[in-house]
Amino acid sequence: MRYLVTGAAGFIGFHLATALASEGHDVTGVDSFTDYYAPELKRLRVRNLAHLSNVKIQETDLCDKSALLSLVNQNQFDAVFHLAAQPGVRLKPHQYSRYNESNLTGFLNILEATLEGEIKNFLYASSSSVYGNSLSVSHCETESGLRPISYYGTTKLANEMLASKFALNSNIRVRGLRFFTVYGPWGRPDMAYLRLISSCLNGKGFNLFGSSETLRDFTYVADVVKMVSDLNLELLNHEFGFSDVVNIGGGQPETLTTMMKIIENETARELKINKLDKNVNDVNKTFADSRYLESLIGTKPLTTISAGLPEVIKWAKSPGVLENLESWINSVD
Ligand code: NAD
Repeated sequence: MRYLVTGAAGFIGFHLATALASEGHDVTGVDSFTDYYAPELKRLRVRNLAHLSNVKIQETDLCDKSALLSLVNQNQFDAVFHLAAQPGVRLKPHQYSRYNESNLTGFLNILEATLEGEIKNFLYASSSSVYGNSLSVSHCETESGLRPISYYGTTKLANEMLASKFALNSNIRVRGLRFFTVYGPWGRPDMAYLRLISSCLNGKGFNLFGSSETLRDFTYVADVVKMVSDLNLELLNHEFGFSDVVNIGGGQPETLTTMMKIIENETARELKINKLDKNVNDVNKTFADSRYLESLIGTKPLTTISAGLPEVIKWAKSPGVLENLESWINSVD
């Protein structure tokens, strides 16, 4: 099969491109290497894809619609995995144009290119942040009246609405992937788990925003890419015009306190915590209801943080990473 992966130099896109290519598929990746966090990390990920002859990465901004159209017209892709976005909930209002450009304009451009190129499957990254501070115990895809609390989450909910609107009466199928706090090696330096690991390894203080009792449904990246690949195959069973959204989480939320203890044990170092006020864009908890995911592909993410975090620490200590980790962390405001 021939696949297009957007955001292929990003954390999840890099892992997905690696997994799809290792299964023998041809992968074209696009990325604009935004400077939201260290572009050097994104370039290093791409260098780590170089040994796979069936992956090619091109530098393209999703805001360049004509570049996308010529890409899809020159290739006969079987599916698009759209992961490129401005991630993170914490940008300030004067930076919201970054969300608008990547998550709204870019999203519409790739969706329109998919329709024009008649690519049958369009899978795109949504987020658990669409649930906002919903009071339900666990978050289910059928939950109505969603109110994201962040601008980021609002753009992701807009993506879901636009995607289902575009799919209707079309000859494509679309599926939104509501990711729940994905973590793993090669991860994003704005996320707490990597900042915690860096703090331990480099003996620096960790800025804790709000309570460490906040619950997060941490989902290991290898589980995520397996689920996404299986969900693409499952999507083929549906008629054209079909659209849905699927929670990608295992329904086993953990506190940051538990995560901190595991990281301290694994690194044999003690964390120095600087307590700060909660960020208004951070939700109180994330907790996936994974029943729909299981009904589609028969399984859900199973890697526990006790098994996944040591893999991240091993990567963080590796040559080429350890000496750069702190500067990657500091590249995010
Ligand atoms: P990431 O930032 O590592 O990857 C996104 C990539 O998209 C980056 O490499 C960036 O350069 C690229 N990009 C951004 N704007 C672009 C544009 N206009 N044109 C081309 N490329 C552009 O983030 P990630 O963690 O890999 O997230 C992948 C997707 O999953 C995103 O859509 C994100 O919102 C979503 N998501 C991630 C998580 C998580 O926990 N990691 C949780 C929920 C949702």
